[in-house]
Amino acid sequence: MNLRNCARCGKMFNYVAGPAICDPCKKAVEEDFQKVKQYIQDNPTASLKQISEDNEVTTKQIQQWIREERLMFSKDSPIQLLCEKCGEPITTGRFCAKCKTSMANTLNDTVAQKRQALQQALQQKQEPKSGMRFLDT
Ligand SMILES: [Zn+2]
Ligand SMILES: [Zn+2]
Repeated sequence: MNLRNCARCGKMFNYVAGPAICDPCKKAVEEDFQKVKQYIQDNPTASLKQISEDNEVTTKQIQQWIREERLMFSKDSPIQLLCEKCGEPITTGRFCAKCKTSMANTLNDTVAQKRQALQQALQQKQEPKSGMRFLDT
């Protein structure tokens, strides 16, 4: 048992994984999310404060959903999201499509580099052995 206090209601619950939120709260948050999602569709020009007040959801929670790419905003929305890397306007998440692609490529590069380094290390390990055999004769 891994007991923790729920980050939302403060009650003790058996923590398994993910955000430290109890099951009833998880359901309530999900209901809030559906409500907010619908609200944004119906009120595409609502500001963050307005959404928060009309749905009784914290702006922090809304921003979290945005970062998780669960909420999208139209071009008419006063909520302007900017790519955290290059500053381009985006509709959801934290980065624009271009930066996401370039970051994914960088990640692949690092993996390739690591594999190469590992191969080189293995080769270097093998070399002294053959060299030693050479010395024995
Ligand atoms: Zn709770
Ligand atoms: Zn970008």
